[in-house]
Amino acid sequence: MLETKIFSHPELTRRLADAVANSAETFIKREGRMPSVMEVCGSHTMAFAKSGIKTRLRDYVRLIAGPGCPVCVTDQKAIDAMICLSKKNNVILCTFGDMMRVPGSDSSLLQAKTNGSDIRIIYSPSDSIQIAKDHPDKEVIFLGIGFETTIPALVAAVREAEKKDLTNFSIWMTTKLVAPVLRALLQSGEVKLDGFLLPGHVSIVTGKQSYRFLNDKYQIPGVITGFEPVQLLSGLLKLLNQLHEGRTGIINDYTYVVKEAGNFTAQHYMDTYLTRADEEWRGIGEIRGSGLVLKEKYARFDAKKKFNVLPAEPRKTKCRCGDIIRGVITPEECILFNKACTPSKPVGPCMVSSEGTCAAHYHFMREE
Ligand code: SF4
Repeated sequence: MLETKIFSHPELTRRLADAVANSAETFIKREGRMPSVMEVCGSHTMAFAKSGIKTRLRDYVRLIAGPGCPVCVTDQKAIDAMICLSKKNNVILCTFGDMMRVPGSDSSLLQAKTNGSDIRIIYSPSDSIQIAKDHPDKEVIFLGIGFETTIPALVAAVREAEKKDLTNFSIWMTTKLVAPVLRALLQSGEVKLDGFLLPGHVSIVTGKQSYRFLNDKYQIPGVITGFEPVQLLSGLLKLLNQLHEGRTGIINDYTYVVKEAGNFTAQHYMDTYLTRADEEWRGIGEIRGSGLVLKEKYARFDAKKKFNVLPAEPRKTKCRCGDIIRGVITPEECILFNKACTPSKPVGPCMVSSEGTCAAHYHFMREE
């Protein structure tokens, strides 16, 4: 509680914001442009916008939202497949609430529910286990999205299903890994980046060591940081200091919870149950080895293997979430932003999600 108060202390926040602006000015004088920093995590994007830091620093640091919102990066094909499955008579589909309003090609899970599909919002993957136990005559399918933060909870649900010998539970795995997508972004060279603010929650599982490649292969610095204003600004300041000193290391500025090697227990269970697979990312396409799926031994819990669903090619829309996710444009550069697309009538996942960049800009940075 005391720590939370310190990390959001107004005077400390103001002083740190001034220090970041001063440090960035030095960079701007030297390079003739603002430093470009990608905050990888959707929670960071929302925290920067909500705290006013992004607005305060807009003339000093180009903060680019990265591909770290799990709802936003979930491919449209997964939504279409889920809608298709939910129409089967004996299926109960379980999902996190944010996924309900994400538009698929023709409708959303919310519309499917309104049309009679049995779709339930759950708060933890293990809730779907209870639903499967309560409804032995139904097939219970959980839409398993998420990054390394959520994946251990998906594995825990599978372990529980295994222990209880459930035959009517499965997961549609569409998980994402942070390191492969950062590699893909850097290899594309589409956006000029000077450094990364790295995701605090994911790093608890993966550890600081998982970002070594940023320094070894791409000579780009990164700072792992928390989510309160003081933590965000401290991370930015340390990143700018590295840029001034020409260093490209990875700094762990979230040492209370992030360790060098991460969480061994979570890693052990992930290694036991899951294996690497190529994953489709919205706006990016397939990235080699960028997801985790159930090992063959656990195929009975794999909804993709259990149900033969081949979603059609997704329909193209004017939504530019793909460009937002890759950091190529800002929400204001999408012609639908705050016109045809608002949080009450979202056209794309970046406006639906509570961690979406378009939602963050709409709620906290919009100029009337
Ligand atoms: Fe998609 Fe709406 Fe964002 Fe445009 S404003 S990119 S339509 S979510």
